[in-house]
Amino acid sequence: MLKMGNDIKRAAGLLQEGKVVAIPTETVYGLAANALDTKAVAQVFELKKRPAFDPLIIHLASADGLEQYVKNTGPNFKALYEAFSPGPITYVLPKQSLIPDLVTAGHPTVAVRFPAHPLCRQLLESLPFPLAAPSANLFGKVSPTEAQHVADQFEDSLEYILNGGPAAVGLESTIIDLSGESPLVLRLGGLSMEDIRAVLGKEVKYTKSSSSNPKAPGMLSAHYSPGIPLSHGNLDSLLDKVDRQRCGSISFCKRIAGIPENQQRVLSPKGDLKEAASKLFGALRSFKAEDIDVILAEEFPNEGLGRAINDRLKRASVS
Ligand code: AMP
Ligand code: MG
Repeated sequence: MLKMGNDIKRAAGLLQEGKVVAIPTETVYGLAANALDTKAVAQVFELKKRPAFDPLIIHLASADGLEQYVKNTGPNFKALYEAFSPGPITYVLPKQSLIPDLVTAGHPTVAVRFPAHPLCRQLLESLPFPLAAPSANLFGKVSPTEAQHVADQFEDSLEYILNGGPAAVGLESTIIDLSGESPLVLRLGGLSMEDIRAVLGKEVKYTKSSSSNPKAPGMLSAHYSPGIPLSHGNLDSLLDKVDRQRCGSISFCKRIAGIPENQQRVLSPKGDLKEAASKLFGALRSFKAEDIDVILAEEFPNEGLGRAINDRLKRASVS
């Protein structure tokens, strides 16, 4: 039977037995398993219905002992690690053979993150292995930012959810590939490109990774699906085409005339992109299909975390 609580020993015990446990992180909740145990990792893919070509991120308390898992870290890791880890940044590095191919979907690289959430850190410190953990939602659905979101989807299939309260960042980590000649951001997320550039003191490019941008058509479309059609763009032009009574809205700081109050989600009245990012997934989940026909989502400022917010909304809009 599913239990929710803050019992780290219990979570650690289940993970040691090769079971899957939901864990809190500052980005989103994860479905975690022993990253060195292929059978345990296979259960994560199965539970999420995640295709095996989509690699998982491994989570560690710190870089102590990192050389067991990665061959080398390259010239840019140290500065980024000191500035941003623990936190919402994931490094793609050449993997050691100890990391199963299932975790990396056959890639010669592994994605590594050091989460900042205190409960998650305590759990990782108590374990002799890293945790492989994707977001704790069914493949293609909105990522969970509260323990209850996880319970809603995995009630029958999980034994324990470690409850660490609402996720502070609320967006997945920013992924940076440090395995090539120059650093390359593969996924926009909870740490901005501007912050990364400031620390490295140089231009850093963003290219979607091939796994999150697969060649097979339609794969991308399912991502972050709120289960209701969503239009993303300039609100003034979107509003021209709709019956406002039957709309939900997601906007940055302003209310929208004509849309019923209880169907509006203003993510940050004071205009703070960090606050808006932390509220985004909760807002996407909060609409009821019987109340509205469409969710109108504003194009956020294309800077800082606004870029990651727009990325998620754009993908939520593809049907
Ligand atoms: P998540 O769904 O948050 O667990 O993030 C996993 C994502 O990290 C994948 O969908 C990839 O986009 C990216 N990723 C993980 N491992 C690698 C890797 N070795 N090389 C490139 N991208 C990776
Ligand atoms: Mg995910």
